[in-house]
Amino acid sequence: RGGAPQKEIPFAKPNSLTRVYAVASGKGGVGKSSVTVNLAAAFAQQGLRVGVVDADVYGFSVPRMLGVEHKPTQLDDMILPPVAHDVKVISIGMFVPGNQPVVWRGPMLHRALQQFLGDVFWGDLDVLLLDLPPGTGDIAISVSQLIPTAEILVVTTPQQAAAEVAERAGSIALQTKQRVAGVIENMSWLELPDGSRQEIFGSGGGQAVADSLTRSIGASVPLLGQIPLDTRLREGGDAGTPVVLADPDSAAAVVLRGVAKQL
Ligand code: ADP
Repeated sequence: RGGAPQKEIPFAKPNSLTRVYAVASGKGGVGKSSVTVNLAAAFAQQGLRVGVVDADVYGFSVPRMLGVEHKPTQLDDMILPPVAHDVKVISIGMFVPGNQPVVWRGPMLHRALQQFLGDVFWGDLDVLLLDLPPGTGDIAISVSQLIPTAEILVVTTPQQAAAEVAERAGSIALQTKQRVAGVIENMSWLELPDGSRQEIFGSGGGQAVADSLTRSIGASVPLLGQIPLDTRLREGGDAGTPVVLADPDSAAAVVLRGVAKQL
């Protein structure tokens, strides 16, 4: 401990071909992890080599949502990530004994992230997704320091209050000089049996965040998609098979695949 030299992070090399997306949200429960695992599965479906780092210290729900059954294994001085649905996965939850609550301070998080990026044997990846904790915390800064080319994806609900905090999470990109690849609105509406849409959480939040980030960053930030409320999305997450795989024709799956295609 403390003696080993830090390993180079392959994704930080100037010639790295891996696209890195940090998935951020202003607050918890808006569907950030659900979006992350579905985008990962959609990329894998396209034949891309995909990895996910679950850095959501408060949530770590990615392994369950992807149905990861194995623990990481050790090979020499590297950690081999388990694979589920053709996606390589490392989660902070895999290293926390029991289900114990851990108070994560900035430096600990930074170190954990550094290890997930540098000590895990990812092989060649086309896409790496990072599921960040909600908010505008230290970890967003850590990501930008460890992988300066990482782009940010902001997930929000249509609700005004949610959009305001999402905007703050996105505007950290101004400080870190990262690109914001786009905004994804989740829980946009519920489709009723007669085909009409009930806007349970109001409307306009995703577009408002995209517009406001476009203004503050001074570069176009698109609204990449609006995902409806869909029981099948929740069930897919609970069962460990993302809805893009479990029910590819569902409305939510169609939108999520569309988002992946734009990235
Ligand atoms: P976060 O990562 O932002 O905390 P999650 O992805 O864990 O959010 O989602 C919170 C809960 O809401 C989960 O139980 C998830 O299955 C459910 N959920 C997320 N998006 C949808 C949706 N579009 N339709 C139905 N349930 C959803």
